[in-house]
Amino acid sequence: METKEILARIELAMDKVIEEYQNDNFIIFSDHNDKQKFLFDKDYFKSLRFGKTNTCMFLGCVQRAINNSHTIQKATSISTISEDGHLLWPTFNHKKGVLELSKIGLNYASTFPGFCRAHEQMFNPFEEKKDMSTEQDFRLQVYRSICREIVENKRSLDTSLLRRNQYILFRDNKLSEMIRAEADALHIDSKSIVSMRHEFVDWRLRELNKSVKQSEAYLADLHKLYLSIHNDLVKNKAQKVFVQAMEVDWVIPCCLAGRGGFKLNNKSKRRADIILNALPYENKTFLILASHFKDKRFVDTYINSFTKHPFHLIKMVESWMLYGSDHWFIRPSVWESLADDVKDKVLKELFNFNKSIYAVADFEIFVGLREQLILRQQT
Ligand SMILES: [Zn+2]
Repeated sequence: METKEILARIELAMDKVIEEYQNDNFIIFSDHNDKQKFLFDKDYFKSLRFGKTNTCMFLGCVQRAINNSHTIQKATSISTISEDGHLLWPTFNHKKGVLELSKIGLNYASTFPGFCRAHEQMFNPFEEKKDMSTEQDFRLQVYRSICREIVENKRSLDTSLLRRNQYILFRDNKLSEMIRAEADALHIDSKSIVSMRHEFVDWRLRELNKSVKQSEAYLADLHKLYLSIHNDLVKNKAQKVFVQAMEVDWVIPCCLAGRGGFKLNNKSKRRADIILNALPYENKTFLILASHFKDKRFVDTYINSFTKHPFHLIKMVESWMLYGSDHWFIRPSVWESLADDVKDKVLKELFNFNKSIYAVADFEIFVGLREQLILRQQT
């Protein structure tokens, strides 16, 4: 066969495969074993957990972070709502492909590789008194929530980058394999066809690119907040970060430390990003919101819309759980006592990324707490 003829047949094989792939991107997953290997890749699963060699999050510190800095104090909030040494928290079960509430032990709940041994001591003043009373106490709590968000989002960005590379490699190898098979059918020696890179941005790649971009933008925003709170911590002054802490005399059976937000208004594209904390103690709960000072008036309006009645505050925390942060822990018996359809709704709403923390659900998670407060009013 002449070279020209060989090249024409290779081109024919390529065109056929590429056309099939463009009509149906899933064609590259038609081999069950290869698909499983890709879906349950060991490195991918490893990337879903925190690494073991993180540097301390304190600005300028180069020491290695311990693996288990708590974002939420174990001796107070975590213990308060635990049962038999456990709590429940939302996790994605990658094997089953579903979101579920899974058990986590006291020693692990809310931990991350945050600070070195020396900087862990920063939190002693309020951890030892098992209470928060000064502005600096609340600031420290917000600070470690921001640090955890950064570590978690860096991890998530690394996962997206890894997954993107893995997908491109998998897809391109698969397409080359299919082209070789086509070439064989056209009586061309397929060994002469080397693996090639393809430039298509299919839906999966588009999604991965989107998630990389989102993580990068979010990390850049977090970094600004991190520098601001660092400034305020060092100076022990509220210069750049606005922290609003509310104390209520009831115990919410849930701990939350993360981020939520909302669009400033219908016309604006900008969002107010807020660091949120719900921290139950033995006979009270702290609800903490923190943002850049420039967003204070928006945060004030938000808070005002939920503070008219204790039930509104409970609703607010439920909104944080559903439409804000998924970094929360709930007392196991509270979750178990919910009707199955409510549990399903909670899990479904956790995937609703279109709603903000202004949205309220049409179902209740803290049914028992509401009943307690009604009884208290009657006596
Ligand atoms: Zn350090």
